[in-house]
Amino acid sequence: IIPITIIFILLINHTESKAMQKIKGYIVNNSNALKDNIIFGMNQNQMLTLLFINILLIFLTIIRYIYIKNKSELGIAENVAKNTNDAVIITDRYNNITYVNESYEKITGYSKEEVMGHTPGNFKSGKHKKEFYKDMWKSINKKGYFRSELWDKRKDGVLYPKDLSIYKINNKLDKKDFKYIGIFTDLTDIKRDQEFIDKLKDYNIDTDLPNENLLFKLINNSISKKQEKFFVVYLSIENYNTIVLNSNENLEYNLKIFIRRINTILDDKNFIAHISKSKFVIGLSSFDSKDKVENFMKKLIDVSKLSYFIRDNELYFDIKAGVCNYPDDGKYVNELLVNSNIALDKAIGTKGKYYLYFDESFKEDIQKEQEIKMMLNKAIIYDEFSINYQPQIDSRNNQIVGAEALLRWNTKKYGFISPAIFIPIAEKTGQIVEIGYWVIDRVFNEYMIFKENINENFRICINISPMQFNDENFIKRIKESIIKNNIDTNYFELEITENLLLDDLTKVNKKLKELKDLGFTIAIDDFGTGYSSLSYIKQLHIDKLKIDRAFIKDYPEKDNGEIADIITIMSRTLRLEVIAEGVETKEQVDYLRSKGCHLIQGYFYSKPIPPSDFVKYLKG
Ligand code: C2E
Ligand code: CA
Ligand code: CA
Repeated sequence: IIPITIIFILLINHTESKAMQKIKGYIVNNSNALKDNIIFGMNQNQMLTLLFINILLIFLTIIRYIYIKNKSELGIAENVAKNTNDAVIITDRYNNITYVNESYEKITGYSKEEVMGHTPGNFKSGKHKKEFYKDMWKSINKKGYFRSELWDKRKDGVLYPKDLSIYKINNKLDKKDFKYIGIFTDLTDIKRDQEFIDKLKDYNIDTDLPNENLLFKLINNSISKKQEKFFVVYLSIENYNTIVLNSNENLEYNLKIFIRRINTILDDKNFIAHISKSKFVIGLSSFDSKDKVENFMKKLIDVSKLSYFIRDNELYFDIKAGVCNYPDDGKYVNELLVNSNIALDKAIGTKGKYYLYFDESFKEDIQKEQEIKMMLNKAIIYDEFSINYQPQIDSRNNQIVGAEALLRWNTKKYGFISPAIFIPIAEKTGQIVEIGYWVIDRVFNEYMIFKENINENFRICINISPMQFNDENFIKRIKESIIKNNIDTNYFELEITENLLLDDLTKVNKKLKELKDLGFTIAIDDFGTGYSSLSYIKQLHIDKLKIDRAFIKDYPEKDNGEIADIITIMSRTLRLEVIAEGVETKEQVDYLRSKGCHLIQGYFYSKPIPPSDFVKYLKG
């Protein structure tokens, strides 16, 4: 305004310079007459013109200001739209698309060019009723705003959920003009995550079976509407690790086979839940008596034991189970699960039993177990352990070729407790590792008193529990004990169980090699009772097979000794030594000798005896 006013004044002063001259002269002469009407050399008309121009300019400036402000607001909006992950879509008042951002293109699969000029209604999912859109428009036009989750269709036809907000933006200049801005987030991932999380709450991720959480509800449902019996079967796949190691297939594949088999004997009144890796629970509504469940359990074991093949590997499911029922063994879900689990535990610890019904006495057993566990903690400090030695004899010449060191536990409270009872508990709790080191150290130490009475082929055998073998300090601790007792390892043999060979074979074999390098020989204990495949025995660093007592104890009455014979033949083929344990009669000794198994350990020659007696035995 100021520059234009100045220019205006200058212009007038210049174009009217002649007149101005006159006026100037006139002013000089009649200064008072015209003074009031002339300012800056302008007369009244010119002043009014200037005023008018100025008002016009002010008006134009205001309009320009509003226009720019409007424009820059949209500019900011567009800038934001460009940089957000949310889709932004702008339509004109006829709801035709005039702008979409990149996220819109990404989410919907449509390009800008494809949607420009179309209405967003073209991409409806068809999932919502007419009323939904009616309400939407009502809200937009009344409140200027709408927000909801809804479904739309992508270019590829796939429906997707989104969180949509629509704003109605009025044009400040033209009240009749307006735009709609829609902003939405793609909820597909969030929904999928949510669904996944919801599913995890109730289902096992590997098998899609109900998990413990849902199991609770299922059992609760079954027993709350039922007056009759409801059976709970707690199930464990005992050879789970073997299957995983030998199948070459992923675990889910094996579990699928397992579940498919079980489903063949379940009807729609019964269900199965997957509780943890190798544990399942079956709920049975369709049986009203133990007899019928007995029948079911037999079928269950039969279908599990059926073998199947995965690339030449023959596999089967070795299961154990515990059974209890509502209302006899528990009136609440918790009780039923705990008691069936107790029965399972008991079944696992009972050789030759696949399943057991819950019995109140099992609870006492658990308490006893707990007590033994506590007592074991103090057994070393209280000096309650000792070692007995059971001679091993060459039946051809009656020479003593060795002895097995067997742990004995004499407690103050209960007297002697059999290793058959406390070793499994110590294995369960891990206490066997420290106990095992105590045994090794004691046997190395006691070897000094036998030393003078043994020949160079004599070996003392020490039992090594799998857990101890796998202990990372195993070799280190053994070495320490060797140095401490200053022993010659050539007089010692380590007995490992066959099931150890189910673990990572290369790792096991490496450790066996280390032990052999130290001077020990290695025997496989209880041979023939485990799951191990004979095919890889050959590659292992072992020296001896020990035929389990199970294969000789019933000879000749109920057993023709065939398995003992086969193992003997096998050991000869593999160039391994062989020894039979648990031999009680002359008949058994003679049979084994006739088959070529000369080394014998058992009551026939001697029971395990204390060190002092063993010295006498050696001398005698
Ligand atoms: P095992 O290694 O199979 O030991 C042989 C078991 O058979 C011993 O039982 C022995 O006393 C018994 N036995 C030997 N000859 C005869 C026989 O002619 N007839 C009968 N009926 N039994 C016979 P024990 O001493 O009760 O040991 C039981 C198990 O406890 C052992 O079985 C072994 O697995 C474990 N054990 C014993 N001492 C140790 C140890 O120091 N460390 C580890 N890890 N386990 C041990
Ligand atoms: Ca043994
Ligand atoms: Ca044995």
